[in-house]
Amino acid sequence: MPRTRTTNVAAAQWSPNGGSLGQDDLTQAGVYGFGDNVFSEAVQRQRLPKAAYKKLQATLDQGLPLESELADAVASAMKEWAMERGCTHFTHWFQPLTGSTAEKHDSFYEPTGDGNALAEFSGKELIQGEPDASSFPTGGIRATFEARGYTAWDPSSPAFILENPNGALLCIPTAFASWTGEALDHKIPLLRSMDALSRSAVRALKLLGDEDARRVFTTIGPEQEYFLIDERYYFERPDLVTTGRTLFGAKPPKGHELDDHYFGSIPERVLACMLDAEREMAKLGIPIKTRHNEVAPAQYEFAPVFENSNVGSDHQQLCMQILQNVARKYELVCLLHEKPFAGVNGSGKHNNWSFGTDTGTNLLEPGDTPHENLQFLFFCTAVLQAVDQHQALLRASIASAGQDHRLGANEAPPAILSVFLGAELQKIYDAIESGSGDAATPSSYLKLGASVLPHLPMHGGDRNRTSPFAFTGNKFEFRALGASQSTALPNTVLNTIAAQAIDQLSDKLEAQLEGGAETAEAVLAVIKESYAAHKRIVFNGDNYAEEWHTEAEERGLANFRQTPDALPSLVSESAVEVMGDYDVLSERELESRYEVFIEQYVVKLNIEAETTYSIAKTMLLPAAVRYLGELNLAGESAGISAVADEVRAYLDTFVTQIGALENANTNHPDVQDVLDEAKYVQNTVVPAMTAVRDTADTLERHIPDSLWPLPKYSEILFVK
Ligand code: ADP
Ligand code: MG
Repeated sequence: MPRTRTTNVAAAQWSPNGGSLGQDDLTQAGVYGFGDNVFSEAVQRQRLPKAAYKKLQATLDQGLPLESELADAVASAMKEWAMERGCTHFTHWFQPLTGSTAEKHDSFYEPTGDGNALAEFSGKELIQGEPDASSFPTGGIRATFEARGYTAWDPSSPAFILENPNGALLCIPTAFASWTGEALDHKIPLLRSMDALSRSAVRALKLLGDEDARRVFTTIGPEQEYFLIDERYYFERPDLVTTGRTLFGAKPPKGHELDDHYFGSIPERVLACMLDAEREMAKLGIPIKTRHNEVAPAQYEFAPVFENSNVGSDHQQLCMQILQNVARKYELVCLLHEKPFAGVNGSGKHNNWSFGTDTGTNLLEPGDTPHENLQFLFFCTAVLQAVDQHQALLRASIASAGQDHRLGANEAPPAILSVFLGAELQKIYDAIESGSGDAATPSSYLKLGASVLPHLPMHGGDRNRTSPFAFTGNKFEFRALGASQSTALPNTVLNTIAAQAIDQLSDKLEAQLEGGAETAEAVLAVIKESYAAHKRIVFNGDNYAEEWHTEAEERGLANFRQTPDALPSLVSESAVEVMGDYDVLSERELESRYEVFIEQYVVKLNIEAETTYSIAKTMLLPAAVRYLGELNLAGESAGISAVADEVRAYLDTFVTQIGALENANTNHPDVQDVLDEAKYVQNTVVPAMTAVRDTADTLERHIPDSLWPLPKYSEILFVK
């Protein structure tokens, strides 16, 4: 496994705030205890013998394997530090393909035989663990090979302590692989993709005349959307408890139509919960930058300061976990599902993404010199080319059952990938393409080698909230991620396809330079050619609009509406080629992911279907029958009879629909290919579920509150 040296300092240097947020800054800024629970580089420097510290840094820098003596020294320092902070156990903390994190706790203490116990933690235990891999999804990998897997320390993501009122746990971020060396997790491919992008970008930088950069880091700053609801409603809704979303629920009379929630003042209990969660995150070295109300009632968002992709992705997993844990202290429940409430805005994760050098330059930021501008345009063009070439793979990397209610349904962003450039940058590309500016385009755009681009507005009036992939001044924002998903895979794909496109452009640039062309002229020629070939991916308009969907089809853009449509692109020829060429995921590793994700889709929907008919049969139907009984008791008035007839008619339909759903879900056809099963679920089970729900939601509007057994949307969403 590659050891990627990825310090946060390099990332923070390009902060748009112009400051590198270090531990000291945040502690001074009053964020008490920032990074207290992190075995950071500073702690290592303090705790390790000088020689060992130096050797560790050198080993990490050069990506060498750890010597066992050094590992013992690190383990011993780490144990001492952790035990001083109340840790009794440690765990290798890893990210199997379930999308969540996994831990198996081991005690530091070993009995000594004389009734005492000794605290032990060796270098070997630090570096490698062996959880039982057989209970984690591995796709085809386990079937043909050994079930065993091992976890390996990732020293580039610092160890940390998770606190509990009754003890503390030392967590060691690790990669998870099979004994045959295949990645069984989301971390290994992400690290490999960061290496791939670094290699390609450093090569390009050399051609562009930058001899200093030795490493290029990819960065992410994910904006997380989520709901917080009162736990008493949660526990009264078996659908929320079992599936994370409501399977029933009539739309409330008040939704977000009034727009009074977005950026509104944060309710006190919710704010208390956020502050508490943020304090926990701060202790783990995760700086939260913004928080606010989101569009839907009871929906919120927070965003951390960006970090290198590996650490940022680990931190993202931790944030989701912390938020869910802390919410319970306030009798709230945090919902991370992509669509907890039908008809109400869903939750996504905006993945802000960029890359920059170890010398402190953000390569997606237009600079102050003509040279920097050329460099920026080169890399920006590579991103356009990458997204166009691999739309389908990117789409597959964010596919899940939860996402089907957002992407491809009537919600932004759509399932169609396109890139928003903004008016300013668009003008520049137009000028480069046509070779001549219009009246509004300064002619200086055309001779980039000799002039400076105007600064592109980062918060310009032309921000486009409907685009799935938007340029926002010094980074791209991939907005189509699901709220509950790990950021690792989409970033793995992004980094790898960008690495490929950078190389493709570099090949052309190299050829031009060898032919004697001048750098600026050659770069512009390469950009012009690429833009002409890939500009169909650029769309600056309204991504909600029906006309866009028609136009996108005319442009030949991919539109995979649902998971079973999208996932096969994970193993398409072009996906296998790019992921393989860049040593990020082998064909077998891709296939295993494909299988795991399809399987997850089928299993999730099976659970949803079962929960749907169980609630319908045991809670909703009895309520309707009871109401009908009450109506019958009420006597013979014509009005009452009409109501009773109506309810009886719905009830009859309801019974039939429940039967149909149960039948569809329990009688899957016998198929060889799990994709066929997924399609069956998509085309037969899902519509049957929707039918049951529609009737239930109608009944909800007829049956008295006192008889309806489920808390309603109007309560769940508005009691804060
Ligand atoms: P905006 O107003 O465009 O959303 P912000 O500065 O508020 O921009 O940033 C939103 C998110 O983007 C934050 O999480 C931030 O850390 C992240 N971000 C900013 N710069 C970068 C970068 N170079 N790489 C990755 N993420 C970044
Ligand atoms: Mg947002």
